[in-house]
Amino acid sequence: MTHEITVIPGDGIGQEVTPAAVEVLEALEIDFEFHEAEAGDHVAEETGEALPEETYDLAASTDATLFGAAGETAADVILPLREAVDSFVNVRPAKAYPGVDALRPETDLVFLRENTEGVYSGHEDRLSDDLSTLTRVVTTSASERLAEFACDFVEDGEYDGFHIAHKANVMRETDGRFRDAVLEVADDRGVQTEEVLMDAFATHVCLDPTQFDVVACPNLAGDVLSDLAAGLVGGLGMLPSANVGPDRGLFEPVHGSAPDIAGEGVANPAATIISAAMLLEYLGHDEEGQAVRDAVEGVLEDGPRTPDLGGDASTEDVTAAILERLN
Ligand code: ATP
Ligand code: MG
Repeated sequence: MTHEITVIPGDGIGQEVTPAAVEVLEALEIDFEFHEAEAGDHVAEETGEALPEETYDLAASTDATLFGAAGETAADVILPLREAVDSFVNVRPAKAYPGVDALRPETDLVFLRENTEGVYSGHEDRLSDDLSTLTRVVTTSASERLAEFACDFVEDGEYDGFHIAHKANVMRETDGRFRDAVLEVADDRGVQTEEVLMDAFATHVCLDPTQFDVVACPNLAGDVLSDLAAGLVGGLGMLPSANVGPDRGLFEPVHGSAPDIAGEGVANPAATIISAAMLLEYLGHDEEGQAVRDAVEGVLEDGPRTPDLGGDASTEDVTAAILERLN
């Protein structure tokens, strides 16, 4: 079976790290067909639209999309793309990798962020010169969908269970609904859960991140808390993410287009290559996904390093070293 993959390098270092990840995928004995597509600032400058319809349609119809980065137009590109793959969960691992100067090197967490509702569903109103409001949307169905994913994730990864971060003591109706729905699914599935208030979580994760493994959160909490954890592990160049939908997914590094180093050929390709490993796992190629992760970690430990990690190697040098380890 051939996997159809949309590849969107986008802007800035996206143009450098995305081809590196494609090279890694091409080195595996898996049948891929890659469809390269355009998006981002450079397209908007030419056509007025950051996300061409062809790109959206490809993402909405292929098995998976690998995305690099978009600059100023990031929100115009990434939000519709997440919708194109009907992604209901954003998976964000926060793990300290070898060779990275991390605040908390013992951190090894995975956030499962609800990706469709909460305060980001966009119902804001300006009621007067003095008053604006925001409607927060939480449904049992979306909460259950996240919970089912969390249970699968825990079972597949052989974790003991997962934490639910929320603020149901204050937002009793909305976070209360989220919490109750997640607890009920986990209970039915026989998966252990522990609740944690999201503000308390922020403190505890800084003091001792080893208390947590997998953390399921509503949209805004997941956004903020996963960025907080990214700060604990350092190295934006290392952090991958996955937007998972029922039939397709979108895989992207956490970092942006890094205009300060774009075009110099020195961007760290690790985050995008680890995102490609998540893509492999999503498509059922767990063994190859693990092999890619091992190759990246091996190179981070004792191979050439890009300048963000204190080395002087180029994106190409690091990619070549990863490919060599993979073979
Ligand atoms: P954008 O507006 O596209 O988000 P940004 O200016 O916020 O761009 P980021 O991409 O978020 O930049 O990166 C923040 C900092 O981290 C920059 O100094 C950038 O050079 C560095 N950085 C990010 N990703 C990488 C990478 N893959 N390799 C090396 N350095 C990186
Ligand atoms: Mg940024």
